[in-house]
Amino acid sequence: MVTKQDIIAEARRLKFADIGFTGAEPFASQKEYLLAHQEEYGWAEAVGLGLLAGTDPKNILAGAKSIIVVLESYFEESFPGQMERHFGRCYLDDDRVTKDGLALKIKGLRKFLRENGIDSKIPFNLPHRLSAARAGLGTFGNNCVFYARRVARSSSFVFPIALVIDHEFPPDEPDIAVGCPDWCRNACVAACPTRALKGGGKIDPRRCISFLTYYGAGLTPLELREPMGMYVYGCDRCQNVCPRNTPWMTEEKPQNTRVSAKAADFNLSRLLHMDKPYFEQKIWPHMFYMSADDLWRWKMNAARAMGNSLNPAYVAELIRAFKENSDERVRSMIAWALGRIGNKEAMTGLEQFSKESDGMVKEEIRQAIESIAVRF
Ligand code: SF4
Ligand code: SF4
Repeated sequence: MVTKQDIIAEARRLKFADIGFTGAEPFASQKEYLLAHQEEYGWAEAVGLGLLAGTDPKNILAGAKSIIVVLESYFEESFPGQMERHFGRCYLDDDRVTKDGLALKIKGLRKFLRENGIDSKIPFNLPHRLSAARAGLGTFGNNCVFYARRVARSSSFVFPIALVIDHEFPPDEPDIAVGCPDWCRNACVAACPTRALKGGGKIDPRRCISFLTYYGAGLTPLELREPMGMYVYGCDRCQNVCPRNTPWMTEEKPQNTRVSAKAADFNLSRLLHMDKPYFEQKIWPHMFYMSADDLWRWKMNAARAMGNSLNPAYVAELIRAFKENSDERVRSMIAWALGRIGNKEAMTGLEQFSKESDGMVKEEIRQAIESIAVRF
């Protein structure tokens, strides 16, 4: 019979950063938390994430006895600056669709387990980070992110993958704690631009930029547009300011050539003007939380980032995109972005568009013109 040591050795051979074991008992505290915070997490059930069901491993595998958690360290190589500015790092080399990176390692580990008579399931809805803490692999931060204990210089740039299995192995020592140093005065909470972080390890996910960029309903509210800054998909701000991440962020790393090779496809102008075939070939295989039906949200996010760049070079792009798009959410955000950049060319474009617009787009144009007028 395969031993825990054999599985650890195989995980190392497959180049997982770390591995831990925990029991398959339900995540009672997580269930309690979700039930008490349905206002913040109800959306997750509505989009089919099944977080409540995921709190009991037996809902995933009837004969669940243990959970193996492996850690992937996803920031071993450096990413191009223009990608880090607009996208969360954990999405930059995400192979959950292409299945040509991490997926091969996971497949290898499951094959090893299967060959040794162990059935495994990798549920997307199990609390993976809590599983990792329960398996002794690290601690939480006040930013609600998981930090490794032994790898990646104890940073948060790790991705826990939990495998529910039908064999029992001795669990590792759990550490369900916040591991922040006393001297850090909640830099993450202060830096969160949309005030999603509430302090004490609490977050309102509906105000988190990550949620807003891929699940936000309708036109982004005015008061969030500036705080969301340059992010188009995901956000790393509370991790970037965290002193627990400084050692790993400042370490010299070789370049990630896979991400560098696709950086041009993710240029803001290309995202703003993309059509469905472009999206399906170049974007969706790497960042897939939004379908082709949500192209409007990608464009709205790109327009908002352009506006927040204050870069006059984007004015011509935004004017062209206003003419190309009939979606009123995209047009409204373009009007806002033109108002935010606010030069003469933007004003001329807005005045022209005002004549042919109505409803919420006309109102956004009126406010954009007003905001330029008070500055000059
Ligand atoms: S990811 Fe960004 S928006 Fe979300 S909690 Fe962190 S800093 Fe705030
Ligand atoms: S910024 Fe400070 S409080 Fe926030 S997670 Fe990092 S160490 Fe903890």
